[in-house]
Formats: sequence, C-alpha cells, structure tokens
Amino acid sequence: MDHVLVVTGGSRGIGAEVAQLGAARGYKVCVNYARNKKAAQAVVDSIRDAGGEAIMAHADVAEEADVKAMFRLVDQELGPVTALVNNAGIIDQSGKVATMTAERINRILAVNVTGSFICAREAARRMSTEHEGEGGAIVNVSSAAARLGSPNEFVDYAASKGAMDTFTIGLAKELAAEGIRVNAVRPGLIDTEIHAAAGDAERVERFRTAVPMQRVGTALEVAEAVLWLLSDSASYVTGSFVDVAGGR
Ligand code: NAP
Repeated sequence: MDHVLVVTGGSRGIGAEVAQLGAARGYKVCVNYARNKKAAQAVVDSIRDAGGEAIMAHADVAEEADVKAMFRLVDQELGPVTALVNNAGIIDQSGKVATMTAERINRILAVNVTGSFICAREAARRMSTEHEGEGGAIVNVSSAAARLGSPNEFVDYAASKGAMDTFTIGLAKELAAEGIRVNAVRPGLIDTEIHAAAGDAERVERFRTAVPMQRVGTALEVAEAVLWLLSDSASYVTGSFVDVAGGR
C-alpha cells in the first residue's frame, strides 16, 4: 500500500520540514500552500531532487471548496490519503483581547480550527475502514499556547489551539474503531517566520530564557515528533499529545 501524506501549510516552517522528512521516510507528499507558491515549489523541488515524490496544491484551508478540490487532486495524482498533518495555522499582531476585532478572531478560528476540521473530514472519508479505506493517521499541530493562554499577545490564537486539542480527543475516539489514529503535537517556541507575521520577529530571542532548556526549538525537532505519531511505531497511540516545547 502506498503511503500518501497531505501536509497543510507545507510550504514553509514546520510544515515544510514535515513534508521533507515525510518524503525521506517514503511518503508520497502533497505540499499545500495558501499564498506562497514559490516556497511550495521549492519544497516540492527539494523532495524530487532527493528522489521522492511530491505535488503541490493551492488551498486556503478555511475554504471548503478549496479543500475538497485539494483532496480530489491528491486522489488523482498520488492515490488516497493515508496520513494528514493539519499544520496550516495563523496568528495576528500581538495585543490584548481588548484590541481584537471580531473579524480577526473569526479568521484565526476559520483557518486554525474550521480548516483542520474540514481537512480531517476529507481525509477520514478516504481512510476509514467503514468506507473503502485502509486506515490512516492524523496529526494536528496545536501549540503550547493551548496550555499557556498567551496573555497580552494572542489569546485568540491560544484559544484556537485549545479547540484543536479538544478536537483531537473527540475525533480520536470517534475514529479509533475505523482504523484511524488522531494525535497532536504542541510545539513551544520554534524558530520560523510565524513570529515576524505577528509583527514581533525578536519574540523568539526575548522568550528564550522562559524555556527550561534555554533555547528555541527547530522545525525539524517538531517534524520528528509528527512523523513518529504518523508511523506504525505509534500504533497504539491515539488521542495523545506530544509537547515539543523544551520543557515549557
Ligand atoms: P509559518 O512559518 O508562518 O508557516 C505557516 C504555513 O501555513 C505556511 O506554509 C502558510 O502557507 C500556511 N498557511 C497559512 N494560512 C493558510 C491557509 N489559510 N491555508 C493553507 N495554508 C496556510 O508557521 P509555523 O511556525 O511553521 O507554524 C506551523 C504550525 O505550527 C501552525 O499551526 C502554528 O500555529 C504551529 N505552531 C508554531 C509555533 C512556532 O513557534 N513557530 C509554536 C507552536 C505552534 P503560505 O506559505 O502560502 O503562506
């Protein structure tokens, strides 16, 4: 059976490392992106250069029609999905809840939460042994923020990750008898471009000393945990969380 991996937000940061490590472990990979086609193409090229198989797929995960089209493309080009990593996620400018508009909050929830639900639904329909699938695994990329709350910075983002955690528990129980495992990783402070997107590129260095290990993590360190949860080495693990946060 072919192993087919869909990585949402596979064009940059943690998702790009998951896509590349997944390809190195034998998955055929779909690299999803929203805006940065060039970055997605670079990930696909690096996978192909290393002898792997990959395609890229544009889809805003908050848009149901985009997501359905992406999974249809994967069916056609790679075969039915056997592994999904719900990694696409956004943050907004750092600030207190008192400054947040409904529009901002809704967009964060739409991408981080609704997007993960829709992608998981499309994947589960194809993976489920109750339909025609052969089982599979889903990993949600949550955040240590779900535990910490991110006060004065991004409580909306933290709450979206809290929702992903509850989603992980519920979906894992729903799908356990259908051959599908569902788990989450909760990264801590990881060196990617997401911090600059919050208008605070220096954040990583400022918070470094709050991490018991006294250093920022790498996207590859998160990808290693994701690939373990997807693998048969984690065959009895579902509804679980792996904190990749340097002890925080
Ligand atoms: P990043 O470097 O900003 O990359 C974000 C990725 O998500 C990009 O590939 C981006 O695509 C994609 N994306 C954004 N909005 C999307 C949408 N609507 N539809 C599809 N794709 C979309 O972020 P990162 O740090 O790697 O974060 C990845 C995940 O880890 C997120 O869920 C984040 O919340 C979580 N996380 C990160 C940290 C950290 O410290 N970095 C800590 C905890 C959790 P484009 O290239 O097209 O823009």
